[in-house]
Amino acid sequence: MLPFAGIPSFVRAALVSLDAEWNSDVGVLGVPFDIALGYRPGARFAPRAIREASLRFSLTREGLYDFREDRTRLASLRICDAGDVDLPSLEPEIARERIESGARELRAKVRLPIFLGGDHSVSHPVLRAFDDIEELHVVQIDAHLDFTDERNGTRYSNSSAFRRATEDLPNLKQITTLGLRGLRFDKEAVEAARRRGHTLVPMWEMDDLDLVAEKLPRDKSVYLSFDVDAFDPSVFPATSSPEVDGLSYASAVHLVQAVAKHNTVVGFDLVEMTPHLDPSGNSALLASRLILEFLMAVFS
Ligand code: MN
Ligand code: MN
Repeated sequence: MLPFAGIPSFVRAALVSLDAEWNSDVGVLGVPFDIALGYRPGARFAPRAIREASLRFSLTREGLYDFREDRTRLASLRICDAGDVDLPSLEPEIARERIESGARELRAKVRLPIFLGGDHSVSHPVLRAFDDIEELHVVQIDAHLDFTDERNGTRYSNSSAFRRATEDLPNLKQITTLGLRGLRFDKEAVEAARRRGHTLVPMWEMDDLDLVAEKLPRDKSVYLSFDVDAFDPSVFPATSSPEVDGLSYASAVHLVQAVAKHNTVVGFDLVEMTPHLDPSGNSALLASRLILEFLMAVFS
């Protein structure tokens, strides 16, 4: 199938409904929700943009020949695309309930669920669906901490996702945040995260990625949350809240591979992509390929 033909699903995975009976190694679920953004809207269009861009990498039963390693990858991987959570245009409480129940339904069917945001607030209801895991660790790759208690009277914005998640999930033991930078930090949030024992790795300590990898959890059940504003805006302009001096694509892949290599990844999300801010479509290409690199690392 040529990339411009047919109905887009992620890497041309089989299109399925969450209501139907099926199971798979990997399941993809879009969460087109962006009313919790504090700045530029549009992340609701990201799941579709990622699917569209991912058609460059159609995944068949023959897998993908990886020239770097001279071997075929992801052959026979069973992957299904369950479409998007059906969301109300307002009523965020209802949206959160539907996101959580969609995540639960997906988890019941697949070994590795992949969530396509949406803004970062969606990670909170998604994480609520992981309440059965005895000791859950989160690795958050993000320019921002997203641990703000409240901003302008709002407690469920994209800046508060992990604060709310830690309150709701007694099993959420540790959060490791990589790529922090910018000049708009909430002091109370930083102090609260430090008090809780989070590992905070600012961008200026990330020149040596092997040293960073040593700070990652080992042999844990990890939920990996990738906020695309971790990327440098020059390589990924399609995001609501860009911060200068971020990750290269190669560094992002390196980090994602390190997380997958040393842990059992139980879930993954990619959030905060605002496709229309990059008319070239290159950001969507990076997003879809990063997810594919992550899958290659998990199913190595
Ligand atoms: Mn974030
Ligand atoms: Mn961010």
